[in-house]
Amino acid sequence: MKLSEEIVAIQDMAKKFVQKEILPRVEDDEREHRFQGDIVRKMGELGFFGCPIPEAYGGSGLGFLAHAVVTEEIAKISGSLRAAFNMQTMGNAREIFQYGTDEQKEAYVGKFVSAEYLGCIGITESNAGSDVASMKTKAEKRGDRYILNGSKTWITYAQVADAGVVYAYTDPSKPYKGMSAFIVDLHAKGVSTGPTAQKLGWQACPTGELFFDDVEVPVENLLGGEEGRGFTLCMGSLNNTRLTAAAGGVGAAQGLVDEAIKYAKEREQFGRPIGEYQMVQEELARMVVETEAARLLTYRCAMQKDDGVLNNALETSMAKYYACDVASRVADGALRILGAYGYSSEYPVERMLRDAKLPQILEGSANILKMVIATDALGYRKANR
Ligand SMILES: Cc1cc2nc3c(=O)[nH]c(=O)nc-3n(C[C@H](O)[C@H](O)[C@H](O)COP(=O)(O)OP(=O)(O)OC[C@H]3O[C@@H](n4cnc5c(N)ncnc54)[C@H](O)[C@@H]3O)c2cc1C
Repeated sequence: MKLSEEIVAIQDMAKKFVQKEILPRVEDDEREHRFQGDIVRKMGELGFFGCPIPEAYGGSGLGFLAHAVVTEEIAKISGSLRAAFNMQTMGNAREIFQYGTDEQKEAYVGKFVSAEYLGCIGITESNAGSDVASMKTKAEKRGDRYILNGSKTWITYAQVADAGVVYAYTDPSKPYKGMSAFIVDLHAKGVSTGPTAQKLGWQACPTGELFFDDVEVPVENLLGGEEGRGFTLCMGSLNNTRLTAAAGGVGAAQGLVDEAIKYAKEREQFGRPIGEYQMVQEELARMVVETEAARLLTYRCAMQKDDGVLNNALETSMAKYYACDVASRVADGALRILGAYGYSSEYPVERMLRDAKLPQILEGSANILKMVIATDALGYRKANR
């Protein structure tokens, strides 16, 4: 697919950034579980987080396809850093730009784009995963503020974020319709965090719990200025974060394909490079084709959004479901091609495989997306509403 000159230019910039800033330290940072805040800030300065944001709010206005292309480049080498494209862009800057009041856009969008503020997204709770509407966090209006109480779990950047969009019930008697979204200052009194979660991959990306104990949130921070729209805004935001996840899946898969090709050409057994054996070629062919198919679904989804079709939940679900499944399958293929060295932390495939398993869970599990796709196909519930 031919990309515009502007997109190729930012893609090249991302490729160079990966080589110069990320590659030399990615393995150490992951091994040491070290958050790469300095890299995230540099990515902000270079405009990596501003593609789907107009210039008036600190972005470049290059669009969703550019966002997907840049995300893919970073994801080829690091899942932990690809997370930033949702913490900074889709889950905060873009969400506030899309749904916020003029004052909210003015106050926050540019700060997330530049990474002056690190963001987080507060949806999941210990008993509310896929079933978002079962969340228990509450926000009670008292005068000119809301009092926020509850807790969130599995929150990316919980320990390092400055602010984020947090979902809570303003009217718990109304499932779905009683939910609202807030821009919450995470340095406010009453906000605390739990220990960093111990997890399989994305080790350089902190994840954890957020606790809200009588946190005062000014009424001006009710996203969009209207109560009861939280669930709708959350689904709208997920429809954007899932594009990033899809692009992340494509990048992860491509990174693994690249490693497998390199190894298959170098490694000799029975007197020949293993890449010359048909069964290795069969594995590799599947990996290459599935990655390319995932890329096309992802780019189609991004281009639709660039054409102004923002409610393309069907195409977004297809892209996210497929690309993230492909990343996981391609990781298994790369492991087979590398054999023992795929299982060894001497080679990046071991880390990349662990990282490639996460996207199937995040931002809508594979099952939830298949439900959206199948119920649309069956005519039970239209996805693009
Ligand atoms: C590293 C990491 C970072 C994360 N970052 C964030 C973040 O920044 N912000 C945030 O809010 N959340 C975050 N999450 C949470 C993530 O979004 C949830 O894990 C996800 O929504 C799934 O919820 P769950 O894990 O509770 O699984 P569950 O909802 O309990 O699902 C468990 C299994 O059951 C299946 N299942 C559930 N319901 C159905 C159904 N109706 N039909 C068929 N199958 C079903 C699921 O597909 C899954 O396979 C993060 C999670 C991880 C692991």
